[in-house]
Amino acid sequence: AAKDKGRNQFAVFDIEMEQEAQSRRMLLRDLQKGLDKKEFLLYYQPIVAMQTGKIVKAEALIRWDQPLRGRVNPGDFIPLAEESGMIVPLGNWIFNEAMQQLAVWRTQYKSDFSISVNVSPVQLLSTDLDCKQWLEKLAQLKIPSQALVIEITERMLLESDKISDENINTLQTAGIELALDDFGTGYSSLSYLKRFDINYIKIDRSFVCNLHRASEDVALCQAIIVMAHQLGIQVVAEGVETQEQHSILLEAGCDFGQGYWYCKPITAAEMTQRLVQENLKI
Ligand code: C2E
Ligand code: MG
Ligand code: MG
Ligand code: MG
Repeated sequence: AAKDKGRNQFAVFDIEMEQEAQSRRMLLRDLQKGLDKKEFLLYYQPIVAMQTGKIVKAEALIRWDQPLRGRVNPGDFIPLAEESGMIVPLGNWIFNEAMQQLAVWRTQYKSDFSISVNVSPVQLLSTDLDCKQWLEKLAQLKIPSQALVIEITERMLLESDKISDENINTLQTAGIELALDDFGTGYSSLSYLKRFDINYIKIDRSFVCNLHRASEDVALCQAIIVMAHQLGIQVVAEGVETQEQHSILLEAGCDFGQGYWYCKPITAAEMTQRLVQENLKI
């Protein structure tokens, strides 16, 4: 009987694996359709200068409104888009969409505005990534390359190879800035900070979310900020949710803040409203 039971468990396991594979195939099919049918949209989350509280940048964050599935968050489809290679065309769409929006914001509301775009390691590792097309697009939209920040994760530094180094090099030589996202969560050693000329470190939300006066994370955040500044790198704190977290980070010399405390991710139209309001402030 025990043997039968064991066999049945394997059978159940097989069925679950098959169902899993099936649902991934369907998700991938829907992803591909979604790109054709323009089901993706970008939200934008303001990044504020800590000292003044003013919005200086925004991070573009993808959303997917699938007719049957409803709103799907990036965590639920980016991994599959990466595995399937779909992230390359999707990433091109994200880039083009964000830059068209940035051109409007810069000409109409804030001439020195900039945008951060998340770029997957898979995009940078791909020979299909057309960096030249990206640079041409910037030129065509009259956006200086400094107004674009590319967010990469520590995983990128781990997986990087000749192609990704070349891609990053091309973008950086053109003047595009680089941010190291989710800093502190990866496996990379600090020496990676020297390998690429990083402009910004984004302290991961996991260090910020427990930040309060009595927390050991205060020392961690302070240390990251001091180290970054000594390397000439500016610091963005992610996931700032409370006044206390904001104050601690401000006192520690953090340059920029991002999080629900300032503003959650919003639509492009809502972002435009925020920029209008900022212009009205004295
Ligand atoms: P990320 O780049 O670290 O983006 C920050 C995430 O933190 C966003 O989640 C944002 O909504 C969330 N967040 C911001 N402030 C707060 C806060 O105060 N509290 C909490 N609890 N969360 C906060 P989102 O939009 O779900 O994106 C998740 C991840 O998916 C991103 O992490 C990024 O790795 C990836 N992603 C998002 N958009 C894109 C994209 O356009 N391309 C690529 N390749 N990846 C993307
Ligand atoms: Mg990011
Ligand atoms: Mg992040
Ligand atoms: Mg994060």
